[in-house]
Amino acid sequence: MAMKVAIIGAGIGGLTLAHGLLKAGVDVRLFERDPSPRHRNQGYRIHISPVGEEALAATLPDAVRRRVIATATRPGDLVAGFDSQLNKQFEQVFPVAGPDAVTSVDRYAFRRALMTGLDDVIEFGKQFDSYEETSSSVEIAFADGSSTEADVLVGADGVGSRVRGQLLPELDVLDIGVRCIYGKVPLTDAVRAVAPEAFLRGFCFASDGAGTGVAFGPVMFREPPEEYGDYLMAVLTGTNSVLGASDEELFGMGPAELWAIVTRSVADWHPSIRLLIAAGEASAAFPITLRTCVTVPTWQSSRVTLLGDAVHPMTPAAGAGANTALWDAARLTQALTSAEDLAAYQHDVVANGQKIVTESLHNAERLFNVSIPV
Ligand SMILES: Cc1cc2nc3c(=O)[nH]c(=O)nc-3n(C[C@H](O)[C@H](O)[C@H](O)COP(=O)(O)OP(=O)(O)OC[C@H]3O[C@@H](n4cnc5c(N)ncnc54)[C@H](O)[C@@H]3O)c2cc1C
Repeated sequence: MAMKVAIIGAGIGGLTLAHGLLKAGVDVRLFERDPSPRHRNQGYRIHISPVGEEALAATLPDAVRRRVIATATRPGDLVAGFDSQLNKQFEQVFPVAGPDAVTSVDRYAFRRALMTGLDDVIEFGKQFDSYEETSSSVEIAFADGSSTEADVLVGADGVGSRVRGQLLPELDVLDIGVRCIYGKVPLTDAVRAVAPEAFLRGFCFASDGAGTGVAFGPVMFREPPEEYGDYLMAVLTGTNSVLGASDEELFGMGPAELWAIVTRSVADWHPSIRLLIAAGEASAAFPITLRTCVTVPTWQSSRVTLLGDAVHPMTPAAGAGANTALWDAARLTQALTSAEDLAAYQHDVVANGQKIVTESLHNAERLFNVSIPV
């Protein structure tokens, strides 16, 4: 009988793992707490590195990979930093990637593409509650009172993972004290006319040197989703005191109030930046807390395992969280479809994850002007 694997979380890692396992004939069920695939408050642009691209190529069936390529953004060729008056601080130019390259994606479009062919595998509105491991299986209970059984349970349920909460209750997830307000600026003709050229070519970060930063990343689709078109992701970063709002205030605000903070924060910045922010879609703003682990944990279980942010939460400062989740999914596919045991996967995931978490901690200190107590 085929091995039964239950995955909690239809995020980037969980969806990729599901494809890898299905391709090898494993019996997979994927349980997602969101009520539907169209649930949307999930962030905007994600950079995909060669590591992520390789993992996608190794796990996805061809038709799904073609959907991912078709719905990705057109590749950029630059990363640059500026001060608040748009004086360039650094610039790195890359060769433009080929027509099938995936260098960044819109998270919603990416997840929708990754859901291709999984209609019978994903159950939405299924919030994992707890598990019980026996010698022959693992019993999984959901918040709606239902339950299921599997040979292996994979917690791919993100930074606040409830599976990890039960497996590793001692893991500390550290709040690095930086808050972000994510937003988007639709790329209308008028916006394209005022946007600095670099902002349309790749990821750019502008900073006032006193703790306020705004990142801009173009999302120019090969094939846009039905719901929206090209946009510039804009992300304000700073501590509560820099942003002038406590967590209670920030997380209690509506999108328009959040966008007003972004507008206020760049009030004396270069006019082009002010114009871009003024053209932002105020209803799209949402706040997040940057969290990370410091030491990637190890665990003992032959039936319950973790991948992605559930095991190694990290700040976005290395642009590596999603790419590492993809790497994990490819590595776990290999382990579950060969004679390897889960301990070999866990060893590799911890070693690889630790390297990247440490790099992302260093980057976060530099980028956000904070000192992280480690
Ligand atoms: C705003 C932002 C920008 C980022 N930018 C980048 C970037 O440019 N490059 C990069 O590499 N990384 C980036 N990251 C990090 C990246 O998004 C994450 O590392 C990545 O999504 C992790 O994938 P995952 O599959 O582990 O978890 P997720 O993609 O977070 O998926 C977890 C899934 O589990 C579901 N879930 C949670 N709890 C339960 C439950 N109890 N029951 C059922 N389902 C549940 C959630 O609804 C979600 O669908 C960014 C992160 C954020 C927040």
